[in-house]
Amino acid sequence: MNCKGVIREISNYIDGELDAAVKQELERHLAHCEDCAMILDQTKKSIEILCDSEPVALPAEIHDRLHKALRAKLGKDPR
Ligand SMILES: [Zn+2]
Repeated sequence: MNCKGVIREISNYIDGELDAAVKQELERHLAHCEDCAMILDQTKKSIEILCDSEPVALPAEIHDRLHKALRAKLGKDPR
C-alpha cells in the first residue's frame, strides 16, 4: 500500500471499518512511514476534538498541518 492508499483508507481505519487484510497492510505502512503516522495522529486528534462536547474549535494549526502534509504527499505521488 502506498501513501495515497493509506490516506484514502485512514478514516475507515479510525472507524474500525477496514478489512483485516487492508488494516494489516495499512499498519505495516504506518510502521515505516512517518508522514502517514503523523497524518493518522493528527486526524485522530481532530476527530477527538470534534467529538468532544466542549465548544473547542479545531485548531487551525492542526488543520493546516494536516492539509499541507496531504498535499505534499499527493503531489509527490507519480500518478
Ligand atoms: Zn506513507
